Amino acid sequence: MRTINHWIGGKPATGSSARTSPVWNPATGEQQAEVVLASTEDVDAAVRTAAAAFEQWSQSSLSTRAKVLFAFRELVNARTQDFAEIISDEHGKVVSDARGEVQRGLEVVEYACGIPTLLKGEYSDQVSGGVDLFSFRQPLGVCAGITPFNFPAMVPMWMYPVAIACGNTFVLKPSERDPSASLLAAELWSEAGLPDGVFNVVHGDKEAVDALLDHQDVAAVSFVGSTPIARYIHERGTAAGKRVQALGGAKNHAIVLPDAGIDYTSDHLVAAAFGSAGERCMAISAAVAVGGAGDELVAAVSEKARAVKVGSGRDADSEMGPVVTAAARDRIVGLIGTGSEQGGTLAVDGRGLRVPGYENGFFVGPTVIDNVTTEMDVYREEIFGPVLSVVRADSVDEAIALINANPYGNGTAIFTNSGEAARRFQRGVNVGMIGINVPIPVPMAYYSFGGWKDSLFGDKHIHGPEGVSFYTRAKVVTSRWPRVEAASGSSFHFPTSN
Ligand code: NAD
Repeated sequence: MRTINHWIGGKPATGSSARTSPVWNPATGEQQAEVVLASTEDVDAAVRTAAAAFEQWSQSSLSTRAKVLFAFRELVNARTQDFAEIISDEHGKVVSDARGEVQRGLEVVEYACGIPTLLKGEYSDQVSGGVDLFSFRQPLGVCAGITPFNFPAMVPMWMYPVAIACGNTFVLKPSERDPSASLLAAELWSEAGLPDGVFNVVHGDKEAVDALLDHQDVAAVSFVGSTPIARYIHERGTAAGKRVQALGGAKNHAIVLPDAGIDYTSDHLVAAAFGSAGERCMAISAAVAVGGAGDELVAAVSEKARAVKVGSGRDADSEMGPVVTAAARDRIVGLIGTGSEQGGTLAVDGRGLRVPGYENGFFVGPTVIDNVTTEMDVYREEIFGPVLSVVRADSVDEAIALINANPYGNGTAIFTNSGEAARRFQRGVNVGMIGINVPIPVPMAYYSFGGWKDSLFGDKHIHGPEGVSFYTRAKVVTSRWPRVEAASGSSFHFPTSN
């Protein structure tokens, strides 16, 4: 069995722990590797390596950092297909989708290439007689990233390019379910000329995460994953005095008004609900059909859901792959069962789907459940699978109120031809990322990404300007250069300008 190791100090490291976790191929259902799980001592070794590397890297010039970032950008771009195949084999998503994920991660690397501009400070000349005032930002130290299975390349790239460009060093703890993309990134960093120890990868589970949260040399923690773990990370990390941004789970709604084009809307809803088998934090999992929109919408979405080509992520014809593990499949299948038991109408039932040649794969077909109400488990739970619930509402205000009553607030969308309704929605909905006739409104890298309510714990969104702010702290300098022979006398009142 192939073993997947850590990456510490610019080279692979086996670590001290005998614990491992299986890495599956979700399409075949077979175990393809085992990943080592770090002990507290292994994490300590990685953090100490990163802390030592910080001494040099934090002093590197902005142009040195930008050059390394540009070189890394070229290498990731050239190896996009390799990343995509690694992701597809461990996560299950189709290769074209995985290429898109790498592209969106690359955009953050490109943003970080502009670090000399992003770190420009402020300067005020002559704030008082002979006194100037200026501010600049400095790196924090060792930053840690703890990331989910569903975007094994992109989500870590939301973090480490910005952190490293700002002069920090980094320890990444990727998902143990699809750990290999992070190791390719580590190799490319070395090839790009990043000094050893600036970027490290430790694989692991709760033991490794807790060791990072408690380590006195970790200054900041970026987390992306499910809401219960995000809440825990934020509480434990901040209690240990660290800066923490913890992005959590989601239940993303799309409101569909009767004036929306039915073809356009159903095409986009199907792609947003079933793309990547629904395992996206920005997937649409609840459509809220307003007024008379419901019946026609359910008919169109159901027809398109039945036509989705489900197969191995490596098959170029596949539009949707398997879900990540057998446990995920069983959980999703169980939740679909509760949907019909609790009064929903199974318009399309994806349970029991068999893919020829992949009979042991972790497949669930696209599923549409109509007449869902807010008390049902399929509405309350984050299913994280290819299941679209359709809820009915009488008015756009009722639909907005329904979204605002939901504990999550990651993304949401409205499909309409009414600018007035869209504007009411964008101003009134308590959600961080909003789409107007755009179902998956993931902001570009030069904006920041983040939800509201139980979808984010902490004060800063990720990447973009808020990312630079998260990974640096400000210094403000008040400066006077008097003539050597000048004497001004002592003044004992609090300094004011003159
Ligand atoms: P997860 O919360 O199970 O795992 C995320 C990370 O936390 C992994 O590295 C995992 O090893 C670690 N972890 C798991 N259990 C832990 C524990 N008890 N203590 C400490 N660490 C633990 O999430 P997942 O299943 O890998 O990913 C799917 C979830 O991530 C979904 O809820 C999805 O909505 C969310 N997600 C959110 C965003 C966002 O931007 N808000 C983006 C992607 C995914």
